Amino acid sequence: MKPPRFDYVAAASLDEALEALADTSVETRPLAGGQSLVPLLNFRLAAPERLVDLNGIAELARVEEMEDGGLRLGAMTRHRQLELDPLIAQRIPLLAEAARFIAHPQIRSRGTVGGSVAHADPAAELPAVLLTLGARVHIARRSRDGEPGSRVARKLDLAGFFLGPFFSVLDPDELLTAIEVPPRAAGEGSAFDEVARRRGDYAIIGVAARVRLDAAGVCREAAISLVNGGSTPCVMEEAADSLVGAGPTSGAIASAAAVCAETADPAADMHASEAYRRHLIRVLTRRVLTRAIARARTPGRQEARTRTR
Ligand SMILES: Cc1cc2nc3c(=O)[nH]c(=O)nc-3n(C[C@H](O)[C@H](O)[C@H](O)COP(=O)(O)OP(=O)(O)OC[C@H]3O[C@@H](n4cnc5c(N)ncnc54)[C@H](O)[C@@H]3O)c2cc1C
Repeated sequence: MKPPRFDYVAAASLDEALEALADTSVETRPLAGGQSLVPLLNFRLAAPERLVDLNGIAELARVEEMEDGGLRLGAMTRHRQLELDPLIAQRIPLLAEAARFIAHPQIRSRGTVGGSVAHADPAAELPAVLLTLGARVHIARRSRDGEPGSRVARKLDLAGFFLGPFFSVLDPDELLTAIEVPPRAAGEGSAFDEVARRRGDYAIIGVAARVRLDAAGVCREAAISLVNGGSTPCVMEEAADSLVGAGPTSGAIASAAAVCAETADPAADMHASEAYRRHLIRVLTRRVLTRAIARARTPGRQEARTRTR
């Protein structure tokens, strides 16, 4: 299949891209890695009149250390960089661990973190993983009534970003510019796992978990998110909260996993029934919580694991 005709703008700067998106008389879409958008065009599921290519905008491809030790990932950071960059592996090992599950290396070399979040696919790994990490998104647009070139920026918790399948708070003239991931606290461990029909396929179910233990081994913070467990990338608060305030025993982990499976809202499709998805949620939640807690108990274990994979 060939895509429908479209005009093409190769933006050389963020202002140029925002300027093009501000002209809402022409249906315009940003083009990032193209790994979701181009198939949509080829299947004629989308037919924008104009594409604004973000690949020439250097400032969108930067990974920066924040003062608090967290990282600011430019929207054009490729999945492959999440997987291979030593700084990302050391600061946010969960991202490196999960990025390997996305598709195949060729797709990871082009696909971007901003594209994955903006696309808002409930079956994508990164939105769920970034929710577990408490990420925030930076969004920019050109001022609607101001001078050309003036920018309006907003920053919000990723938890408020997703509104439905392939649907987010982004307006057509807005660009996701960066994602901020807070630093890892002492006593923190995290893990990701998924089940897919074949290596590289979209997950039938994926689970990301993060826990923080205090010096006495009591769980002080927990977060669990699901890939393909609902109509949006979803945070499983009740299950995570059930772990907080006590030592995470195997019984507590099993019980949190059961709550996660009960409170999730997975759909049935040609790949799996709802019951099978709930079963996977329980098994994978138990598995990733066990791994995250072991990593939290042994500082350095997570980084070592990331380096050897
Ligand atoms: C065969 C195949 C298998 C795949 N398997 C997986 C998988 O297992 N898991 C997974 O998560 N993904 C998978 N993908 C999708 C891949 O990860 C994409 O890279 C990702 O979903 C979108 O990122 P992109 O940079 O390619 O975005 P694009 O395809 O360029 O854009 C996607 C959408 O987001 C919009 N957009 C892009 N960037 C921005 C921005 N900065 N601000 C606002 N809007 C923006 C675009 O206009 C478009 O609507 C697969 C793709 C293919 C082709």
